Amino acid sequence: MSGRPATPAWNRSTDPFAELIGEEAIARRVAEIGAQITADYGALTDGAQVVVLGVLKGSVIFLADLVRHIGLPVYLDFIGISSYGDATQSSGVVQITQDLTRPIAGKHVIIVEDIVDTGHTVHYLIENMRTRSPASVKLCSLLHKPERAERQVPIDYLGFTIPNKFVVGYGLDVAQQYRNLPFIGYVTNA
Ligand code: 5GP
Repeated sequence: MSGRPATPAWNRSTDPFAELIGEEAIARRVAEIGAQITADYGALTDGAQVVVLGVLKGSVIFLADLVRHIGLPVYLDFIGISSYGDATQSSGVVQITQDLTRPIAGKHVIIVEDIVDTGHTVHYLIENMRTRSPASVKLCSLLHKPERAERQVPIDYLGFTIPNKFVVGYGLDVAQQYRNLPFIGYVTNA
């Protein structure tokens, strides 16, 4: 047998979720986004560093797969965010719980998010990054729920548009669980 070793049965079981986006579809889309980023940033001639900035914790698995499809030198950094509200409802109040490890002045920053829901988190992040004088700021999000948008934010690189369902897996959690599912599923009773 060739290819990657199978993931354990627990991770492959959709119970108690319904599968929305499968592992192979995710892998194909992530590779396409990586190729697009490679083309776009490879065409730049200013020599500025490219920083791939992961938003903890939901983007970690997406980011890990994505950067292996970016055929350019990139720096990784992470930012921790807490958004007040319960697990399924964003309040719009955002706070940085863990800041970047290095300045981004003069660098090209690609913010990598798991999902744009109301848009408050990425709106805050983009504005905050812009105050730090980067060469550019772009947003890459695996998922977008346009039905829930309260702020319009331009998503430069988008994986999938999804319906208004609470999703888990591939980095996304419910009560900090299920981030290690290889697919994206939705909670059937939400
Ligand atoms: P926003 O500020 O756009 O409303 O929310 C962004 C954050 O809310 C995401 O980074 C994510 O942590 C969380 N979130 C929004 N929708 C979902 C969802 O369907 N599933 C999970 N697991 N988290 C979500």
